[in-house]
Amino acid sequence: MKLFIHRKDLRTEDLTAFDYLHEAGAPAAHLLILDPFLLKRGREKEHSGVNFLRHVNRLRSRYEQAGRVLHIAYGAPEEVLSHLLGRLEGGPEEIDEVVAHRDFTPYARDRDRKLKGAAEAHGAAFTLLVDTLMIETERFAEFTGKDGFYKIFAPFHRKWLEYLAHAPNEPSSVALGDLREGRIEPEWPSRFDLPFDLDEYEPADEWKEKLEPFLEDGIAEYGEKRDYYPELPASGVNPHVSAGAVSIRELYARAIRREGSDEWVRQLAFRDFYQYLAIYDKDYFSYEKKYDLSALTDEHFERWAKGDTGIPVIDAAMRGLNETGLMPNRLRILCAMFLTKNLQCPFTLGENYFRRKLLDYDNIQNRGNWLWCASLGANSAPYFRVVNPVTQSEKYDPNGEYIREWLPELRDEDAKKVHLPRPDAVVDLKASRAAAIGTYKSIVNGRQEEAEPE
Ligand SMILES: Cc1cc2nc3c(=O)[nH]c(=O)nc-3n(C[C@H](O)[C@H](O)[C@H](O)COP(=O)(O)OP(=O)(O)OC[C@H]3O[C@@H](n4cnc5c(N)ncnc54)[C@H](O)[C@@H]3O)c2cc1C
Repeated sequence: MKLFIHRKDLRTEDLTAFDYLHEAGAPAAHLLILDPFLLKRGREKEHSGVNFLRHVNRLRSRYEQAGRVLHIAYGAPEEVLSHLLGRLEGGPEEIDEVVAHRDFTPYARDRDRKLKGAAEAHGAAFTLLVDTLMIETERFAEFTGKDGFYKIFAPFHRKWLEYLAHAPNEPSSVALGDLREGRIEPEWPSRFDLPFDLDEYEPADEWKEKLEPFLEDGIAEYGEKRDYYPELPASGVNPHVSAGAVSIRELYARAIRREGSDEWVRQLAFRDFYQYLAIYDKDYFSYEKKYDLSALTDEHFERWAKGDTGIPVIDAAMRGLNETGLMPNRLRILCAMFLTKNLQCPFTLGENYFRRKLLDYDNIQNRGNWLWCASLGANSAPYFRVVNPVTQSEKYDPNGEYIREWLPELRDEDAKKVHLPRPDAVVDLKASRAAAIGTYKSIVNGRQEEAEPE
């Protein structure tokens, strides 16, 4: 008997592991472990945790509808696995292989090392499969013939397109109902009980309800309109993508059939690119240690987080985020640049804040984008790029609709004045921009000197 463990792949169609189990033809039991480490500090009440748990509830219903069982336990993954394998060992339901999808964060790598140890201690194999990228990274490396890895997105993107034309990665038709069912009786001890009632989390909405109208009406205009955030031309599908409720192959396959989908598909390449960097760039998760960030300060962080900086577009974006867990991409860039550059805060503070607040939080994507905005890391904006939130707000939201929605005190303000810094603004935009360029020049050059060959 096999055991499949769900992680950020909360769906029942098009999973690499389902193909693998189908091919093996052996019965499999299905388990989802809610890891206290990932839900710590009240995360189950924050937007990112709520989004995940709503998708867990949806997944459980999917299993029920298919007449199948999804076992759910709460605990350190290796302890849960050890308990289960130990209980079934030597009996007719003995597990000989544990299967899961690979994840590339440092925490996930460490967790998987422990899971492998737990599986092997009970005589079971531990198999990790790649499910979350369009490209198979090792084959991609062979295909490109490149020495080292791509550090810049544009050439990566060109090769990515060439590679997928050469090695298409179609969605699979294998679904839960096609797999042989393995029945087990885990008899979980009470320590693995969920500390909350999953039914308090309404099952997540269906991703198709967002994607289909977008593919029908929005995709061809995406490149042109994406940044004009009050019109919201983006798909809004990402909270489902980050929970794995829809596969990346499915998104790609549905998109490329449409006219004018290049720019949207390019964003899927961006998502792959950050995962690729997380695999190949050994500093991806430790850039804060590579640079000397001691000149930065957390002085104004709280005002930024509360949406109380006196810069209307920043405050509107942050208040909207705090309330809904949503923030359009252009506003994420403005808020991240404002925090890291004008306020000279370490990017890790903003990164951690988004970890709790974003509905579509994803560790690798969030870090890659924060590094870009902070001009740190392999692929980033130049250190002197400091966007002006006022002129950006005037450009992308001329009537200040977003500001009016989230800042009631400015609801009736004149369309010209609505964008302007308030008298109590936390910094002067011009002076803080100049200061940021000086600081980041030293930070970035400091690292370059250090990296120079001896
Ligand atoms: C500071 C900052 C933090 C971010 N944090 C996250 C995060 O935690 N999780 C996350 O998935 N994205 C993050 N992004 C990227 C981007 O903002 C979101 O993916 C996007 O807003 C999702 O919008 P959408 O659902 O309308 O998808 P669309 O705009 O319709 O895009 C379709 C798909 O393309 C991918 N995509 C789009 N933009 C990007 C991008 N810039 N980088 C990588 N992939 C992209 C997503 O997978 C998305 O599902 C961040 C961006 C910034 C600037």
